[in-house]
Amino acid sequence: MTNLAPSTLVELDLAHLIHPQHNRTMHLDFGPVIITEGRGAVLKDIDGKRYIDGLAGLWNVTVGHGRAELANAAAEQMKKLAYFSAYTGMTNIPAIELAAKMAEIGPANLNAIYFTTGGAESNESAIKTARFYWKQLGYSDKTSIISRRFAYHGVTTAAAQATGMPAFWKGFEPHPPGFIHVAPPYPLRFTDPLNGRTVGEAAADAIEQAILAEGPEHVAAMIGEPIMGAGGVIIPPDDYWPRVRALCDKYDVLLIADEIITGFGRTGQMWGLAHWNVLPDLMAVAKGITSGYLPLGGVMMSDKIAGVINSLEKPAQWMHAATYSAHPTCCAVALANLDIIEREGLVERANTVGARMQAHIRRLAEHPLVGEGRGMGMVGALELVKDKTTNALFDPEGKTAARIRDVAQGKGLILRAVRDILCIAPPLVIHESELEEMFDILATSLDIVYAEVGTSA
Ligand code: PMP
Repeated sequence: MTNLAPSTLVELDLAHLIHPQHNRTMHLDFGPVIITEGRGAVLKDIDGKRYIDGLAGLWNVTVGHGRAELANAAAEQMKKLAYFSAYTGMTNIPAIELAAKMAEIGPANLNAIYFTTGGAESNESAIKTARFYWKQLGYSDKTSIISRRFAYHGVTTAAAQATGMPAFWKGFEPHPPGFIHVAPPYPLRFTDPLNGRTVGEAAADAIEQAILAEGPEHVAAMIGEPIMGAGGVIIPPDDYWPRVRALCDKYDVLLIADEIITGFGRTGQMWGLAHWNVLPDLMAVAKGITSGYLPLGGVMMSDKIAGVINSLEKPAQWMHAATYSAHPTCCAVALANLDIIEREGLVERANTVGARMQAHIRRLAEHPLVGEGRGMGMVGALELVKDKTTNALFDPEGKTAARIRDVAQGKGLILRAVRDILCIAPPLVIHESELEEMFDILATSLDIVYAEVGTSA
């Protein structure tokens, strides 16, 4: 523990720390809050103020904060062997065991994994692997990647370009070529003409149109989050993913599932796509694999893709790598974390406690500020509207949700606001009393902001 005063820590932070999505003024407006402790779904800041963690860190602290068991798993592995390279020719026990575990719990056709250190690197690896795969089969022009508007896939070059939010591209141009964005399956705000189709059909058809416009011989993969997270918890209609899978099969396009938020039980199934019985060709994971206790991610590969990589003949190699791939300590913590998820039945809990959470969301959807409440398992959102009959957005967009987030934070609930959407994804271990408290704070915060903006907004 530090002996520096909070004010000194903030001064040093401002002087030396560049934050994710950095903006100094916003950092100051927001606090900055120095979080020092966590237990389960509850956090404490440096002044001793208590918060409910309504977003499980950044959608990742699945088993909750303060698990000594995970600290012990890390300490034991570090004392034995904290790190060694896993480059071809070398391997380590936790990485082998974790790879085997992932093959056991992963989708049936995915039995091999390359480990990364986080989400963006997992998607980056998946995109590169899709292109590599087609090249091995002789299709050297099959390189384009289709993704959806409002998708979030991370900030490395390819992952950021697959991300469907232009704010993440601005200032970082030139854009890498070969990325196409199509309409997301977003029933509340679907803008393409339906022409008698359901939103799910029309959104899947947007992918087909993009494949045909590009030429199937140029398209390597479609990447998508089973439920879009950072774009505002967008839940696809049930007819979307099966149709996307069929289209990918029809045109020989690989399907990359970005299960970075949805994986490891968040939605009430181990994998998001399992809700629709869809199997991907590549699957990116991160976040919940260690519940955030150490940085780790991975890309799982279908038997077909791993088969191609495994049959490369010397001197050809899949020349993708990282110092920390298959990091022994991160893998040991992941194994201990997956053990907790299984032992405590957290995937089932995402259904049972999730049902209560979704009931609260439906109740708050009646609030005059809320246009739609949606969710699945233990991820959900409230989308705010200026007018409940037209679902018109507030002007300027985003301010109202940010205001509610700030009021809630003042009352001890940490949430995330995206555009005019409040996102909710607490640790799967949240106590039912804390869940009630969370929605009480949220309801009060909505009322307070409604009294401020009223109908005049
Ligand atoms: N994909 C999804 C669906 C995500 O939610 C995130 C992180 N919010 C990422 C990728 C990127 O992960 P990371 O921040 O670990 O690079």
